[in-house]
Amino acid sequence: MDYQLTEEQITIKNLVRQIAEEKIVPVRSELDEKEEFPWEIMKYLADTDMFRIFIPEEYEGLSGSSLDLCLVIEELSRACAGIALCYAATSLGTIALVKYGNEDQKHKYLPAIASGERLAAFSVTEESAGSDIGALKTTADKVEGGYLLNGTKQFVSNGGEAEIYTVIALTDKTKGPRGASAILVEKDTPGFTFGRKEKKMGIRSSATRELVFEDCFVPQENLISKEGMGFIIALKVFDESRSGIGAQAVGIAQGALDAATEYAKQRIQFGHPIISFQAVQHLLADMAIQTEAARALTYAVARAVDSGAKQYAKESSMAKVFASDVAMKVTTDAVQVFGGFGYMHDYPVEKMMRDAKITQIYEGTNQVLRNTIAIELRKEKR
Ligand SMILES: Cc1cc2nc3c(=O)[nH]c(=O)nc-3n(C[C@H](O)[C@H](O)[C@H](O)COP(=O)(O)OP(=O)(O)OC[C@H]3O[C@@H](n4cnc5c(N)ncnc54)[C@H](O)[C@@H]3O)c2cc1C
Repeated sequence: MDYQLTEEQITIKNLVRQIAEEKIVPVRSELDEKEEFPWEIMKYLADTDMFRIFIPEEYEGLSGSSLDLCLVIEELSRACAGIALCYAATSLGTIALVKYGNEDQKHKYLPAIASGERLAAFSVTEESAGSDIGALKTTADKVEGGYLLNGTKQFVSNGGEAEIYTVIALTDKTKGPRGASAILVEKDTPGFTFGRKEKKMGIRSSATRELVFEDCFVPQENLISKEGMGFIIALKVFDESRSGIGAQAVGIAQGALDAATEYAKQRIQFGHPIISFQAVQHLLADMAIQTEAARALTYAVARAVDSGAKQYAKESSMAKVFASDVAMKVTTDAVQVFGGFGYMHDYPVEKMMRDAKITQIYEGTNQVLRNTIAIELRKEKR
């Protein structure tokens, strides 16, 4: 399908596909097996200016669009969604700073992220605050010159590897979610350590880790926007980042479709390639239809964001929910096309199926996002 991409976007897509084929495909299985963070590939993405895409020009970025970012994430995910997440989590960790940070904060932190020298992360989730992020307990008590952070954050992508963290913590416990604030915390700040590193079903080369704060002093100038804005900032960050999860899901689905189609052409049973059997053809056709529909919706939402739309919680939720459900279905069907071999580590589709599952869970589970869509529908006048 022709999505009327600009010359620049086609160049980005082709360059990332080349990086993915040459640098990621040969190592993805090993990194997944060893649960190893892909530092070499992050360096490669940095050298090719990929981290500059989501940073404004004034801070040594390229001021790329949401669609540009989606193209990068999609192409990386087509090869390995875990490696794609290490890149995408940095863009997630940058959104609050770009949208709500002040000039000093932006000049201090964004250039090093743009160059890929420092990775970023975004941290809301806690043990008792998952879908219900308003239930968070980590505190940031006001002290002279700044805040003292105490608490434990959970499931932080890029945890331990990133150097710059946007942390949502309570600056006023009495106000519940309205007392939450967004605070920048640098790695190596005294009182800030890393807890358990999770062992995961999929996206295993990405790091998912606890952040532990024990009387961690953070200066006042690290507060993003104003006290009490943390909850709103978190919601807005996810509204923006969700089309990236859609793109991740589309990439996973495309990778599985490509692998299954190639395999079906080569696998001979009953004297014929299995692609000559109508049951397999229809499976592949449905996979292709769903993947293309997910891509069309994801790109449309990214374009809406780029056009300056003010509200897109419903639309970005739709893209994330639809594309992630497609990724789960398409990867499961890809394993089916491979038969018993699909179940083995030797072929890429079992990893793609494991990787797909997370896209239905993070940045709002698909159930919670269906709630969001329904809430918006109830508000709309027809
Ligand atoms: C690999 C990984 C990486 C992650 N990365 C990050 C990160 O970088 N930063 C960060 O802050 N967080 C991150 N998360 C956290 C992630 O966003 C949460 O796991 C997710 O929002 C769900 O929260 P939970 O796991 O506590 O599930 P719960 O909220 O406990 O949900 C359990 C089940 O109940 C359902 N449910 C809950 N509430 C409702 C409701 N109101 N209506 C209908 N169904 C409901 C859910 O859909 C789900 O099926 C990550 C998680 C994982 C697994």
